Amino acid sequence: MAQDIRLYLFECGVIRLPRYVVNASDALNTDRVPNPTPWYLITHPRGNAIIDGGNAPEVAVDPIGHWGPLAERSPVEMRPDQACLPELERIGIAPESIRWVVQSHLHLDHTGALAVIDRFPNAEVLVTRTEYETGHNPQSWEAAAYCTADYVKPGVPWSLLEDHEDGYDLYGDGTLICWRTPGHTAGHLSFEVNLPSGATFLLAIDAANTMAHLEERESPAFVLSPGDATRSVRRLRRLAWRRDATIVAGHDPDQWPQFKKAPEYYA
Ligand SMILES: [Zn+2]
Repeated sequence: MAQDIRLYLFECGVIRLPRYVVNASDALNTDRVPNPTPWYLITHPRGNAIIDGGNAPEVAVDPIGHWGPLAERSPVEMRPDQACLPELERIGIAPESIRWVVQSHLHLDHTGALAVIDRFPNAEVLVTRTEYETGHNPQSWEAAAYCTADYVKPGVPWSLLEDHEDGYDLYGDGTLICWRTPGHTAGHLSFEVNLPSGATFLLAIDAANTMAHLEERESPAFVLSPGDATRSVRRLRRLAWRRDATIVAGHDPDQWPQFKKAPEYYA
């Protein structure tokens, strides 16, 4: 039943990133790496939660028109049926059942549900106040990573998490715990998902783009704060250890194919 507690994983296509965008040690290396674009759904008797929602549907049709020059430098492969609304329909999840849209951060490959927020009449959008403020006034190079057209608009039902709400337990039963993991952006969140089977997943999102970042074999490029980024991956490893969790890296082309994708799920 759809209201059972489940974790679904989706892939909203692939971005072909130059290597220098991924690893600090690959400066000047323009070889391309396929960067999968994950997003997640948690089903729950109290209402379902989308985590991030991939890319906006416009990206499947006109990526450069929607994202600007970033999509010229980093070509995007996305089919229209990989947007979040058709994906939810495919697995029989009604938009009205979405109670929360939970944002790790507001970078452009994470705002696909926000882009269609008017189609989720019962949803609130959970994001940190810090990320909300950055996303509404991004500075310097950070601006290229935010697509404000997806979320700077009237009627978005924002629900802002304050700094002191670190470890926020969305459902109150441990199913989804939001941990602050700054570095990639100042207001970034990672997510601990505890399932009825006893299995725990730790969705690092972009606090660890790859397992090499998680294990500190590589340093991520284009982070707001390298010091915070290092502290955050160490925090993720500690959090995972507590529950023997499976850590899901944010965009790892080698790890990501190993997980079950919707309509399969973890429960
Ligand atoms: Zn990001």
